[in-house]
Amino acid sequence: MLLNHDYKYPFTYILGWSNSRYEQFCLCKRKYYYHRYGKYDTTHHSSKINQLKDLTSLPLAKGTIVHDVIKGILSRLQRTESPIDKDRLKVYVHKLTKEYYEKNTFSEHHYKSRTDNFIDALFEEVHQRIVLFVNSSSFSFILEKALPVKNEWIIEPGGHGETRIEGMKAYCKVDFLFPINGHVFIYDWKTGKSSKLKHKRQMIGYSYWASEALGISKSNITPIIVYLNSAHEENPIKLFENDIVHFPEKIKTETRLMYDYCTNIEKNIPKPKRAFEKTDKINICMYCNFRELCFSDE
Ligand code: SF4
Repeated sequence: MLLNHDYKYPFTYILGWSNSRYEQFCLCKRKYYYHRYGKYDTTHHSSKINQLKDLTSLPLAKGTIVHDVIKGILSRLQRTESPIDKDRLKVYVHKLTKEYYEKNTFSEHHYKSRTDNFIDALFEEVHQRIVLFVNSSSFSFILEKALPVKNEWIIEPGGHGETRIEGMKAYCKVDFLFPINGHVFIYDWKTGKSSKLKHKRQMIGYSYWASEALGISKSNITPIIVYLNSAHEENPIKLFENDIVHFPEKIKTETRLMYDYCTNIEKNIPKPKRAFEKTDKINICMYCNFRELCFSDE
């Protein structure tokens, strides 16, 4: 089975649904505005908005570095099948953590909830999850079953995973995908809290992307979520007919809700900022990158 996912859609400005975009939209409309439409703001300079938008955090950093290390491990396996040297892996994890730590600004530092250098704590957290991964049944399965088709692996494909779900623009980007005997396995690594219902939606989206981009039937796709927290947990998603049939309708409804906040849908131009309500849930604001703006807004 030759997997080809390089198709590029013609560029359009219209917004595209993604699980993360809609989650952000539901969490706080104002946050969604700053993230997606900051350049239209007339109160705060776009450089300030971008600075806050680019802040990372410990949980985000942990997830990103774990993804980068796993990507590195899988790419290495494509080059050589020699066993992983645990000491060299540790050095590699430390290198990536250090690079990430030095390149990014943490919201914990920006908002002074921490003033210490927590690179060692971050490294320990990432390393613990990588050790879990290389000792996991998921990794054993990949070594045993997927290695023979390593030339057909798709590891974090470039771009944003643009696709169409019944004609609607959407973005669904997989972590890792491979075929075995005409069946496709999609893996997604998670370092945050386990939320099977929420993550299942995301995986249905990935199945749509794979089906559209690779021309395979959804019945031949198994999406698998791998949680890497205090323990390894593998959660294969069973796609029921109902999930598949109702998914496009849900995406259309959610996309239309987001369209309602545009004055020009085709060009993706937003309504004025005041239309994007602030959440009244203080526990969301407490961890929001944009909280310094909200306290000074009208
Ligand atoms: S601080 Fe609160 S209200 Fe303001 S953007 Fe963030 S989450 Fe929304």
